[in-house]
Amino acid sequence: MEYFLEVVLPIPLEKLFTYKISQAEADFIKEGMRVAVPFGKSKIYTALAYRIHQNAPEAYEPKEIYQILDEHPVVTRVQLKHWEWVGKYYMCTLGEVIRSALPSAFMLESETLILPNKNAEVDEKELTDDEFLVFEALQHQTALKISEVSDIVDKKNVLKLINTLVHKGVVLQKEELYEQYKPKLIRYVKLSEQYDDEEQLAELLNELTRAPKQSQVVLSLFQLKAKSTKPIPISELEKESGGSRAVIKALIDKNILEEYHIRKDRVQFDERSDEFKHIALNEYQEKALDDINHGFDEGKPVLLHGVTSSGKTEVYVKLIQKCLDEGKQVLYLLPEIALTSQLINRLRRYFGHQVSVYHSKYSIHERVEVWNNVLKNTEKAQIVIGARSSLFLPFTNLGLVVVDEEHESSFKQFDPAPRYHARDTAVVLASLHKAKIVLGSATPSIESMYNARTKKYGYAAIAHRFGDVLMPEINLVDIKEATRKRRMKGHFSEILIKGITEALEEGEQIILFQNRRGFAPVVECTTCGHVAQCPNCDVSLTYHQHRNQLRCHYCGYHMALQQACLACGSHTLDNKGFGTEQIQQELGQLFPDVSVGRMDLDTTRGKYAYEKIISSFENQEMDILVGTQMVTKGLDFRNVSLVGIMNADSMLNFPDFRAHERSFQMLTQVAGRAGRTQKRGKVLIQTYNPYHQILQQVTTNNYDKMFEEQFYEREQFKYPPLVRLIKITLKDKDFNKLNEASEWLASSLRNVLGTQILGPEYPPVARIRRDYLKNIMIKVPRKQALAQTKNSIKRIENSFNAISKYKSVRLVYNVDHI
Ligand code: ADP
Ligand code: ZN
Ligand code: ZN
Repeated sequence: MEYFLEVVLPIPLEKLFTYKISQAEADFIKEGMRVAVPFGKSKIYTALAYRIHQNAPEAYEPKEIYQILDEHPVVTRVQLKHWEWVGKYYMCTLGEVIRSALPSAFMLESETLILPNKNAEVDEKELTDDEFLVFEALQHQTALKISEVSDIVDKKNVLKLINTLVHKGVVLQKEELYEQYKPKLIRYVKLSEQYDDEEQLAELLNELTRAPKQSQVVLSLFQLKAKSTKPIPISELEKESGGSRAVIKALIDKNILEEYHIRKDRVQFDERSDEFKHIALNEYQEKALDDINHGFDEGKPVLLHGVTSSGKTEVYVKLIQKCLDEGKQVLYLLPEIALTSQLINRLRRYFGHQVSVYHSKYSIHERVEVWNNVLKNTEKAQIVIGARSSLFLPFTNLGLVVVDEEHESSFKQFDPAPRYHARDTAVVLASLHKAKIVLGSATPSIESMYNARTKKYGYAAIAHRFGDVLMPEINLVDIKEATRKRRMKGHFSEILIKGITEALEEGEQIILFQNRRGFAPVVECTTCGHVAQCPNCDVSLTYHQHRNQLRCHYCGYHMALQQACLACGSHTLDNKGFGTEQIQQELGQLFPDVSVGRMDLDTTRGKYAYEKIISSFENQEMDILVGTQMVTKGLDFRNVSLVGIMNADSMLNFPDFRAHERSFQMLTQVAGRAGRTQKRGKVLIQTYNPYHQILQQVTTNNYDKMFEEQFYEREQFKYPPLVRLIKITLKDKDFNKLNEASEWLASSLRNVLGTQILGPEYPPVARIRRDYLKNIMIKVPRKQALAQTKNSIKRIENSFNAISKYKSVRLVYNVDHI
């Protein structure tokens, strides 16, 4: 009897591939185990066992597998079912889903690079002969391809060997070069509380006359306190007093000074602390919890619509606790950027060790560890907090999914396939597990609110901030008037400058928000109008001040800023538009003594750079933080009393049917950073168009009005959620071929589908990395069966692929494109 194994290869193949196996192998292999297989002429891949059967493939002679890599499945049946859904729905192959879903350490292949682990202490006697050969080779070479390892040990089957070496820590995979971020803890000092009492203080100063050095330190402390209300770092006191650390330490030892850290909770929590175990919800939170549970009882996903700072997290905590009590696992999904140590530590405070984090910034090793913990359902992995890829973990007993900030568009993967939306994929995951799911936001997406209004989802709301904190006071500043009357200083209105001055005087912090979109600063020649272009992409190069470079945001092409115009040679180059960098610079002129930090793509590129800026702002080392969308993401800064929005118009005018919804969300979220304590926060929005309906809705916090108007427009113009969008992007290096091919495809789609088809159309950036692009947009009415439509599209693609002159044209599908 012959046995065959169907496997999923981690490459974009439409069909599963079949290999020959022995009867013993057939008995041993289970679905979801990994096997090493040959593919093509000389490639080796790790593949996932999918099905064992006895039907030889007709089209080709099956090869034998090389090796079985696991003793137990690393992927569960439910996962495979889920991934098949992802592949079908988002129109990609199962192989592409697997490539995204599994940690790369699981999927070694012939092209994977391995490096020596310089930090490991390797006991050579512990290594087998083959292991030693690889180890030794890596002492002389910086990296080896797995196919080269094959040559060294003179064996074809080396994936298992390498898996072991990775496991033993002898070698690292190429991507595994991560550093761990340890937040810097700044030490501050203050006078001990007992000296709040005047008499005690007088006595102390009296005593200290005999210790002049110590006395000097105490007096310096008073001086520093008089200058500013900010916490005083030990280093600053040292500088001001001219006293040494030893003197300061002596004062601390004598309990005259007290040392402290501002964010104690940044330290890792070993044990959950008792005081947090019994949080009592307020009446609004209780009501929301009831409504959520009611929705769960009806078997529905539930939308939790709670204004900023309403205490949604505490409601999640109650849901999570209940789920744990029932002995089930919890998945807490967040957009990558909102996944901060602020939130992780908050959850660790409640749930201690049971919280695991799964994140692309974590090392391969850590990711494998979380994977295995989830698979084995260990204590450590009862709650997983993670970005979108944590959806693909091997839950065996999932009881609850929380999708926080559900409106965030970064939940949608853009590139590569699968181009999935994590929120929607989470809803499917929950239903496969019969688990509960709650989607939370202060500004729900139109899609989710529509689902709630049509009763597909349950609904719960919290309309009040926690602890009687008032919603921030939002004012619009008309900069059109101000510009006309020449009353702007750079990009700052008088009102904004006044607001900043007042906040600074109170020792409070300020966030200034500058939208990234539409404001890439370009350098234009005022004589001939020339703007430097990227040679590979159809975009202008943008100016980066700190490196004095012109750069392309799409392909990374860059050049030094020229002194003269490349076209006409004039020296009349002008910096157009303004970015965060320019705001920071203007602030330097307006407020020379104030420290200003900046948070945008440029300043957060390094590992943990984002964390560092957050903690430095929290520690009040900066007074003003200038940032892009990043500052809107669920951060909780206690001391921020003013939020300024430099210009609301670029967002509103962005050419996209979601521009108004996004503007409302972004402005409401960034406004929500203001005044999270007792004092009412202030928000100033500068705009040329203060009567714009979206700005009116933001200032009055009127989500419902926003929803109604936006929904009406989507109905009128047939946009989601009333239709589904499938975007097809065609790419080719040959401009004419691309045009012809996209016309062919669009007209075939029109003939067959009979639905509304837009395009082909050039996207705003019509050439990227030397490829020309063209989009076709298909609008599928809700009533129409989506699966059938996709099948028809695939059939047309097959005919398309059969046309030999279009062979080089690539198609990219983006379902539910946003
Ligand atoms: P949201 O996520 O809705 O913006 P948070 O969950 O951050 O709001 O809550 C805002 C603040 O109120 C936090 O500092 C939180 O600790 C506090 N808070 C919320 N609910 C409670 C509660 N029931 N008991 C004590 N503090 C709470
Ligand atoms: Zn010129
Ligand atoms: Zn480019």
